[in-house]
Amino acid sequence: MRKNIVAGNWKMNTTVPEGLELAKEVNAAVAAATPKCDVIICVPFTHLVPVAQAIDTNKLGLGAENCADHAKGAYTGEVSASMVASTGAGYVILGHSERRQYYGETSETLREKVALALQNNLKPIFCIGEVLEERENGTYNDVVRKQVEEGLFNLSAEEFGNIVLAYEPVWAIGTGKTATAEQAEDMHAFIRSVIAEKYGKEVADNTSILYGGSCKPSNAAELFAKPDVDGGLIGGASLKCEDFMGIVSAF
Ligand code: PEP
Repeated sequence: MRKNIVAGNWKMNTTVPEGLELAKEVNAAVAAATPKCDVIICVPFTHLVPVAQAIDTNKLGLGAENCADHAKGAYTGEVSASMVASTGAGYVILGHSERRQYYGETSETLREKVALALQNNLKPIFCIGEVLEERENGTYNDVVRKQVEEGLFNLSAEEFGNIVLAYEPVWAIGTGKTATAEQAEDMHAFIRSVIAEKYGKEVADNTSILYGGSCKPSNAAELFAKPDVDGGLIGGASLKCEDFMGIVSAF
């Protein structure tokens, strides 16, 4: 059966010493709390090695926030999936709306990134979600279906089994505006039905689908209580150990 997961996305926040301190704090809190879900922190590339050395990655998963769409070579400034894996990380966020919006990531580049992540035993946390206009004009299901189909449906069922999905309505990210638990559940159930159409019910039922967008300790329990919401991808609230653990303890 699918796992419940709470994953932090630190984005471009914290220096290395600050990040190391936060990671150690979360690591200690997770060790003390025995959470009822998998807990993951996704950190800037510069933080991966020291954080991997400072935490118990068997108890607190570690991920990157992106990886390159090429395996290696003359791509100045890029960080490959194999480099990420060599730090000890086990996850990588791919297709975050900020990468799609500000860095022009397309389904085509994302397919390359997903393939390279999987080849290097990294589990992709693959983000999808509509913008406000698409929510308001009612095309959100079509938009999300297209992102899932174009980004992932070239995978075999076995490969797809390593994907974690994160539904993040763009209008809810960092805005303080959370999707209602009903809106989240409707979309998560829809995404699961799209997966079932392609790979069958068993694969769909085994896929963890996280919600992301202004998730915080005060709304996490209501969201996570929904049957198709398997946890959260947490931005702002993952930068404070107390808030992050407040969300983890919602399970
Ligand atoms: C995110 O960017 O993945 C996110 C969910 O951000 P926030 O929690 O800050 O809305």
